[in-house]
Amino acid sequence: MTCNAEEIKERLSNAYKLNPSDFIAYQVCLETHDPFKVLIATVLSQNTSDKLAGKAFKELEKRIGVTPQNLAKSKIEEIREAIKSAGLYNSKSIKIKRIAEELCQKYECDINKLINGLKPEEARNLLLDFEGIGEKTADVVLLTCYNMPYLPVDTHIKRVSKRLGLVNERATYNEISTKLKQMFKPNDYLLMHHLLIHHGRVTCKAKKPLCQNCVLSYCCEYYSRISGSRIVKTS
Ligand code: SF4
Repeated sequence: MTCNAEEIKERLSNAYKLNPSDFIAYQVCLETHDPFKVLIATVLSQNTSDKLAGKAFKELEKRIGVTPQNLAKSKIEEIREAIKSAGLYNSKSIKIKRIAEELCQKYECDINKLINGLKPEEARNLLLDFEGIGEKTADVVLLTCYNMPYLPVDTHIKRVSKRLGLVNERATYNEISTKLKQMFKPNDYLLMHHLLIHHGRVTCKAKKPLCQNCVLSYCCEYYSRISGSRIVKTS
């Protein structure tokens, strides 16, 4: 049996009920419709759980207010104190302040002035020019807030994609994202981003994947290796 994109989508959609609160960027976007807040929430979520990032985001909102103006004029120490629950708070507080300052200096404190009217690739390149904004963060903001055709790859998506055999073991961020974008329809990018993360969190876990309960085991290269079952390679 082959494992194709529609089937992956359908099987994962049937297996999981997604909760927006499990995805900090998505939740902040739904609640605020503010891309800058989504950007800061995504920075906070780097290398930590969405739950802890959410806690830090709320505290930052309460103590300082997540606006470019407020963060640009705040002291790094104040930001650091507010986001302590997020982990790596020293480097994140520096990043957050620099992003806010640069946005105010170059784009009148308005992220929409940076992005609106640009082609996706131009908007992405401008975001990547900011110190502290990497590929995943840029892609999350562009997909979640602007519905641009990007498919962000986090640590779970990376692991799941490799185990399924969609990409090789040494695949880079861009190679994984490109492969997934080729497989799925642009309208499904956000859904697949969430489904694959959720799958990695609850079933295809890093240490002990629950392959016996997995709806994708029938086409998974990793499972094929450990179980000795034969699969037909995915397209
Ligand atoms: S079969 Fe196992 S390794 Fe493969 S996707 Fe499912 S949980 Fe992950």
